[in-house]
Amino acid sequence: MSARLVDSHCHLDSFKKKQMDELPQDILPVTSGYSHKSNLKTVEIARALKIPFCLGIAPQTAVFEGIEKLPEWEEFIRAQKPNAIGEIGLDYHWGKEEKHFSDEAALFKRMLDLADSMGLPIVLHTRKAEDKVLDALEKYGWKKPFMMHFFSGEAETAKRAVKMGGIISVPPLHSKDRRKTIEAVPLEKLVSETDAPYITRGIEGVRDAIQYIAEVKGIEFEKAADATAKNSAKFFGFKL
Ligand SMILES: [Zn+2]
Repeated sequence: MSARLVDSHCHLDSFKKKQMDELPQDILPVTSGYSHKSNLKTVEIARALKIPFCLGIAPQTAVFEGIEKLPEWEEFIRAQKPNAIGEIGLDYHWGKEEKHFSDEAALFKRMLDLADSMGLPIVLHTRKAEDKVLDALEKYGWKKPFMMHFFSGEAETAKRAVKMGGIISVPPLHSKDRRKTIEAVPLEKLVSETDAPYITRGIEGVRDAIQYIAEVKGIEFEKAADATAKNSAKFFGFKL
C-alpha cells in the first residue's frame, strides 16, 4: 500500500465487506482492536493488507465482558507483533458501578504491564477520564510514548499529556475544546484519526480531521497531512 495520508486510529474489523473492497488507496489506516474477538480479526486484516495495527483490551470490554479471560487474551496479544498496545485506558461513559471501575483499573494496569514488557507504545481510550488516565500513568511511572486517541478533554489536559511524552489524536469532529487543543499542542505532537466506522463511516473522513488541523493552525492542508503522517509513522514505527 502506498499512501500519503494516515488515519492513526480506526477499526477495520468492524467494516462491512463492501467498504473493505473500496478502501481509498491514498490513506494508510492504523487499525485497532478493543476486545479479544476484535483483536483476532484485526490481526487477520492487518496481515492481509500489510498495515500497522494495535491490539488491546479496552475498558468498555471490561464493562461488557468482565476480565476473567484476561490471561488467554493477553497470551494472544503477546504472540503477535503489534505496533502498539491499544486501545486501552479508562472509560467513565460506559462504566457505571464500582465493580466496573475496579475491573477497568485492574485491566488497565495489566495492559500497561503487557506493553511495558513488550517494549511498545500505547494508544489510550480516555472517555470522560482524560485526567484520570494521566494520573494512572503517572502513578504507574509510565515512561514510553503514548497517544491520546479521540482526545476530547480540555487544552490544559492535552498540554499535560504532551509534557508527559504523549501525542494527541484529532478526529474530524469540531468543538470549542478541540479547537483550543489544536491551538495549544505543537504540530509535531498531533495526529489525525477517524475512529471509523464508529465516528465517520470510512477512513476517508481523515481528510476532514487533517483539514481541521490545517485550518486552526493556519497552514496548508499538505503541510498538516505530511506532519500528521510523519508523526504517526514515528510513533507506531512504520515506514511511509
Ligand atoms: Zn476506537
